[in-house]
Amino acid sequence: MNASSTGVLREDLRDFAGYASARQQAVDAAIRLDANESPWPSAADVPAGLRCYPEPQPRALATALAQLHGVAPERVLATRGSDEGIDLLLRATCAPGRGAIVTTPPTFGMYAVCARLHGARVLEVPLLDGGDGFRVDLAAVGDAVLASGARLVFLCSPGNPTGDVVPLAGIAALARRLAGSALVVVDEAYGEYAGVVSAASLPEAADNIVVLRTLSKAHALAGARVGCVIAPPPIVAALRRCQAPYPLPAPSVAAALSALAPGALARTQARVRRIRVARDRLAARLRTLPAVRRVDASGGNFLLLRLVDADAAIARLRTAGIAVRDMRAVPALADAVRATVGTARQNAALFDALAQSGEGA
Ligand SMILES: *Cc1c(COP(=O)(O)O)cnc(C)c1O
Repeated sequence: MNASSTGVLREDLRDFAGYASARQQAVDAAIRLDANESPWPSAADVPAGLRCYPEPQPRALATALAQLHGVAPERVLATRGSDEGIDLLLRATCAPGRGAIVTTPPTFGMYAVCARLHGARVLEVPLLDGGDGFRVDLAAVGDAVLASGARLVFLCSPGNPTGDVVPLAGIAALARRLAGSALVVVDEAYGEYAGVVSAASLPEAADNIVVLRTLSKAHALAGARVGCVIAPPPIVAALRRCQAPYPLPAPSVAAALSALAPGALARTQARVRRIRVARDRLAARLRTLPAVRRVDASGGNFLLLRLVDADAAIARLRTAGIAVRDMRAVPALADAVRATVGTARQNAALFDALAQSGEGA
């Protein structure tokens, strides 16, 4: 066991074995009467495959995800989307009503939501706004962790909604500084779109770096709810004990395996390349509009638009039947919306609506 990574786990769960399911005690038996499953399939189950409980962690899926991310299978926990990974990390490291996490707002909202539901404190170290983009204040993040005793740091790279990519060298240095104190969680939900190397490849990942990945974004399987946590094996084992007995629905596992086959992966990569080109082109065009104050470079499949008159632009977009993510309630983003990069036609509609929004102003 790795002492510096397990030190962050909950003391009160040290002897906790989790739920022991029938599948875990799996036996090689011709007649299986151990899990209270129906002996006959459902009429809805065509072709039959849903009568029995699924494997808790299908080996083929762990292997495919490990291969996709270039890590050993024992460092992978398949989850119900990366949202579940966030929740499991909180449950495994913070006793309810105690403990703390560090986040870097403006950032993905689920870190704070899971912490709040769990009764963990949220310490915020805001991103620094350089005027043409946001960046993480890694020194301040390290200070906040050490001062508070927080067990988890959530870095989002590329950042949602800011699009900034956290430099790998900075993540590695933070992880070294926090070894034995906290896990540095790097949420790479949009990693494919950034085209940078994953934090899972850092040597520090053997110790206290945890990476969250998902099939929801670049792999276009949001409805299947499949993601994974990449972590040191003792952390994977601890998270598994906090997880539901059968977390992954069989149809989702089948869809994930199909999406990770070589042919499908090549098509995913082609889609990603297309989106990246469209993103950068759309950003450049939007920057020419009078209604648009600023568009930062983005490593994701979205752009954070800073608007001269956000209220007017949002009204105009609404009239045009275009939904974007309204960021006005987020501190530091009162003038902003987040727009996903869509098809050429959708991007043109967004551009046209914002071009018109400038005319009335
Ligand atoms: C979309 C998103 C997720 C959640 O992904 P799921 O795998 O669908 O749960 C996690 N983190 C960030 C930053 C996201 O934008």
